[in-house]
Amino acid sequence: MKVLIIGSGGREHAIAWKVAQSPKVDKIYCAPGNAGIAEFAQCVDIKAMEFEKLAAFAKENAIDLTVVGMDDPLVGGVVDVFEKEGLRVFGPRKNAAILEGSKAFSKDLMKKYNIPTAAYENFEDAEAALAYLREKAEFPIVLKADGLALGKGVLICSTLEEAEEGVKTIMLDKKFGSAGNTLVVEEFMTGREVSVLSFVDGKTIKTMTSAQDHKRAKDGDQGLNTGGMGTFSPSPFYTKEVDDFCEKYIYQATVDAMASEGREFKGIIFFGLMLTEKGPKVLEYNARFGDPEAQVVIPRLKNDIVEVFEACVDGRLDEIDLQFEDNAAVCVVLASDGYPVSYEKGFQIKGLETFKDKDGYYVFHAGTAFKDGRIVTNGGRVLGVTAKGTDLKAARANAYKAVEWISFDNKYMRNDIGKAIDEA
Ligand code: AMP
Repeated sequence: MKVLIIGSGGREHAIAWKVAQSPKVDKIYCAPGNAGIAEFAQCVDIKAMEFEKLAAFAKENAIDLTVVGMDDPLVGGVVDVFEKEGLRVFGPRKNAAILEGSKAFSKDLMKKYNIPTAAYENFEDAEAALAYLREKAEFPIVLKADGLALGKGVLICSTLEEAEEGVKTIMLDKKFGSAGNTLVVEEFMTGREVSVLSFVDGKTIKTMTSAQDHKRAKDGDQGLNTGGMGTFSPSPFYTKEVDDFCEKYIYQATVDAMASEGREFKGIIFFGLMLTEKGPKVLEYNARFGDPEAQVVIPRLKNDIVEVFEACVDGRLDEIDLQFEDNAAVCVVLASDGYPVSYEKGFQIKGLETFKDKDGYYVFHAGTAFKDGRIVTNGGRVLGVTAKGTDLKAARANAYKAVEWISFDNKYMRNDIGKAIDEA
């Protein structure tokens, strides 16, 4: 088979690495890819939002399966463009990717189908939102831009003044562009957060092992929100009881709700859950693998991922016995100092070859590039270093050992990824 992967981050590197292990695959392309992916895939200079060019490339090169890693092309309808050309593609169509593309849609869906989530109101008018906040709201309260905002469109406001400022930022100043045309005002919840990824074929859903990410830039969950500074899997807080509850009220219920709405979902559903005192509730849905959750979940997957992708596309996921290794993995992101605000790029990365002959240690590239025959830093999040271990503590110790094998100027990381493990 020839497989095309769309995307360029650590997530796509993890997907490409796993696809490369499939005996069914003899050629991988990645558009646009990165310096790490280039090791086993041919990188193609087409951007993820250039749907027509991507589809033309897939046709010309007789691609058998395309896998879309990123949210923007999915929400923008890349799958529809590929299907119209008769191409096989893994991911939700535009009318299903709305599960991630519109928070107002997903909240209304959960309400209609009794899927546990925080209480909320949607607003298309800033004055109405402000009136609600002044008259009815309890603080803290959560404001969310409806659309995609690179994970930055969520504001937690402790006071009315902060909330008023938030409405202005999202709806009037349009800091997140048209993503802020609609605002979701949501009840503030407390509890541990867990991410559960799943494969879906339209009818059947199979969940993967759980994970937990670390969104804030600095140790102790301080600093700004980022794309993610590290992850561990499984989450020790995702107990059998929690899983049973989610199986009963959340996972299949979401897939069935989408089907009932005429929005059959095929691809990955990422459930962002909060384990509240009143039980697990859905914080958000994503329509693709999380990044960096993929970097700890995919290395633990035992199945041939290409077989699972094909089963989803063909609507026969019920035939797949999804299995994960009985171990743990931790990923520590190596970033450029200053991320997520401003940072320098172009520094040579040394030590990558150390990972080559080491079982259970992986380095997934995010912001890297080739320059004069060398691999250099080319983004805020540069690499994800993942290590496995027999348990979470061993995996964490291994990951923090492995980050020392890599060096580049302005290397920055959090030193407390997986701290929650000690509290379990
Ligand atoms: P989201 O993109 O909706 O997952 O929101 C990003 C982050 O904001 C989540 O991972 C939580 O840490 C936080 N968050 C979102 N919604 C709520 C809520 N209703 N209560 C408390 N924290 C929230």
